[in-house]
Amino acid sequence: MQPREKSPLSNGIRGRCPRCGEGKLFRGFLKLAPRCDVCGLDYGFADPADGPAFFAMSAMAFPIVGFALWFDAAHEPPWWVHLVTTLPLLVVICAAPLRPLKGWLVCSQYFYKAEEGHLILADAKDEAGGNNLGGSPALDAEAQPGRKKDPS
Ligand SMILES: [Zn+2]
Repeated sequence: MQPREKSPLSNGIRGRCPRCGEGKLFRGFLKLAPRCDVCGLDYGFADPADGPAFFAMSAMAFPIVGFALWFDAAHEPPWWVHLVTTLPLLVVICAAPLRPLKGWLVCSQYFYKAEEGHLILADAKDEAGGNNLGGSPALDAEAQPGRKKDPS
């Protein structure tokens, strides 16, 4: 199969495999599939941690707080009205971008071969010419015994 030349952003937002751009990245709303159902890429490398939540909170905090302040100033509602307007809006507006953000981060992790840093001991075999920052099988989870599998 000829892999599609798509950016991590495009594949990630669509929830597609970072390698082939065809297979599904997610099994649930936010749970990753174990591997690509088209090209077989093992998604064990993927570890966006709480990056999606951080970006969603950071981006959505301003509009929702702005809305809450405007709503309170303009209508002076009793406090419980915020429980049925602002709070549900907050949940929806923060949850909605989580999936595309997580897809984008996982695809970027694959694309840029990003991984957790680890020490290379002096007596270890030198595989990548002095450093292990690039050119290594960075996404081969078998090469990193301490790495956890399937973080989500
Ligand atoms: Zn794939």
